[in-house]
Amino acid sequence: MHTRKRQFWIGIGLLVTFAVVVVLVWQRLSPRVATPIPTQTTETPFDEAKFTRLRMTMVQQTIIARGIKNPDVIAAMQTVPRHRFVTEEYLDFAYNDHPLPIGYGQTISQPYIVAWMTELADLKPGERVLEIGTGSGYQAAVLAQLGYLEVYSIEIVPQLAETAAERLNALGYDVQVRQGDGYYGWQEAAPFDAMIVTAAPDHLPAPLVDQLKEGGRMIIPIGPPGSYQTLWKFVKQNGSLTAYELGGVRFVPFIGEGVQSDAPLPTP
Ligand code: SAH
Repeated sequence: MHTRKRQFWIGIGLLVTFAVVVVLVWQRLSPRVATPIPTQTTETPFDEAKFTRLRMTMVQQTIIARGIKNPDVIAAMQTVPRHRFVTEEYLDFAYNDHPLPIGYGQTISQPYIVAWMTELADLKPGERVLEIGTGSGYQAAVLAQLGYLEVYSIEIVPQLAETAAERLNALGYDVQVRQGDGYYGWQEAAPFDAMIVTAAPDHLPAPLVDQLKEGGRMIIPIGPPGSYQTLWKFVKQNGSLTAYELGGVRFVPFIGEGVQSDAPLPTP
């Protein structure tokens, strides 16, 4: 009787152990129900504090160190978030003083060149400025960041024009962006107090000269494609241009009908 009782409890013990093992194995093998991921917050995925530090260092070490003096230009370069204008794969290089690819064979300009061209344009409050070659929209954002200009920008590649317009709008920059061949300028908005051309034609586009106001300044690289060009500043005085040669630069070539064929102007 005593032994049978013992055998009974041993049996129960074995059954319980077996049941526990079965439950543990089942838990391990059964598919886990994924914990729902909270929906995206409105927070930006960027480490803004880190990018601000990198931007301040870049402005100090390349832009101020290389001689840019205009305080408004320096403040704009310290403020415009260049990391929002580069593609994700180049994010780590956003604050290196280099041009970077933005697709379609084009580039976002080197920060120092953007600062230099902006300073050279001698911009004053209330002036109207035209950029040729919107690209990423970075140069246009720097112009808008000055806070006292009317900014127009033309881009020939439709996808770049569209993306840049959306980006500038999302970041709160007031820039009129248009897709088209910048060789012909922007007749409806002319005349302009200043023009900044960020792709290089091999000659000075006559329509741009026509649309420059008396006293207006044009900053433009001119030279053969695929090689170094010369950066020029032209100032319109008494209807004619005074030219200042500023040294060698390297820009992407001007594309489009105008510069290639020197075609007659399209009728408006
Ligand atoms: N300012 C730009 C730099 C872009 S590179 C930035 O800050 O990111 C030069 C740009 O000029 C390119 O996007 C190119 O597509 C554009 N471009 C070239 N020829 C052009 C033309 N004829 N009219 C308008 N844009 C032109």
